[in-house]
Amino acid sequence: MSKTTAILDGKLVAQARRAALGEKVSLFRRAYSRSPGLAVVRVGSDPASEIYVRHKVEACESAGIKSFHIEKPATISQEELEKLIDELNANPDVDGILVQLPLPKGLNETKATERILPSKDPDGLTSGNLGLLLAGRARVAPCTPLGVMKILEHYKIDVEGLSAVVVGRSNIVGKPMAQLLLESNATVTIAHSKTKNLRDVTRAADLVVVAAGKPRLLGKDDFKPGAIVIDVGIHRVAHDGGKSKLCGDVRSEELLGHAKALTPVPGGVGPMTIQMLLENTLTLSELRQKRNI
Ligand code: NAD
Repeated sequence: MSKTTAILDGKLVAQARRAALGEKVSLFRRAYSRSPGLAVVRVGSDPASEIYVRHKVEACESAGIKSFHIEKPATISQEELEKLIDELNANPDVDGILVQLPLPKGLNETKATERILPSKDPDGLTSGNLGLLLAGRARVAPCTPLGVMKILEHYKIDVEGLSAVVVGRSNIVGKPMAQLLLESNATVTIAHSKTKNLRDVTRAADLVVVAAGKPRLLGKDDFKPGAIVIDVGIHRVAHDGGKSKLCGDVRSEELLGHAKALTPVPGGVGPMTIQMLLENTLTLSELRQKRNI
């Protein structure tokens, strides 16, 4: 049993990387006489999306990235939304386009995402970018799994040869996470909602990334002593006195003294996701400048 559990502080890693990013953005501005630009499109009035978008816009400002914040009513048609994306695809000041999900009912998220040019897709979610990732030639990898890899890198956790389990198989987290771990030479298993005896699978792993989207799903008995546990889940749940608080997919209090290392919620993977969005935007800006597109 591990005596102490290292807390992998994503907020701290993101802050350190934000400072370094600010310097790289300054160099970009000096070289090309313009700022990298990120367009964030929000459709409808979902309050959670409003908060996420605000955080992304503020983060852009703090790194010197120009943001274009576009709000559209939930009544927008699919055609109008795609026309807007086409205009942003053609706008030379825009290097990255992000359509905040979920979209209101009636709009097709897959079609909207696929409308974004892969060369302007900082989320790495178009099939063009996911295909490059699978081929081992990633342009930009999806932000959340990329953020997990950067946390591991920061804390010098080498995954080569480790047995890693990813719980969840979404296109945005689980599948690209497994691919990134594989590229770093871990031996990877993907578990999901149809996996039998999940505990037997996770208990066998040296490293478990939990992205099931189920509050407090896994606890001490689901991990072997000394496991490294990355909690991607984020949920707002009711707390004492009508208040609410954030929790992850893991019952983290049970893991203290049991796991070797653990990401907290909040302050773990979440801050890294936004940081990776900014870093991917700069990567796309540099690629566009170099290719003159
Ligand atoms: P999703 O609902 O698209 O996918 C969940 C996956 O978990 C599915 O593949 C499903 O098969 C699997 N699953 C569900 N229940 C399971 C169970 N009982 N046992 C095993 N597998 C199970 O969710 P997502 O978009 O991949 O996100 C997962 C979680 O990560 C959510 O809580 C989400 O809010 C969070 N998230 C956080 C960040 C961040 O920045 N921190 C970013 C993206 C997603």
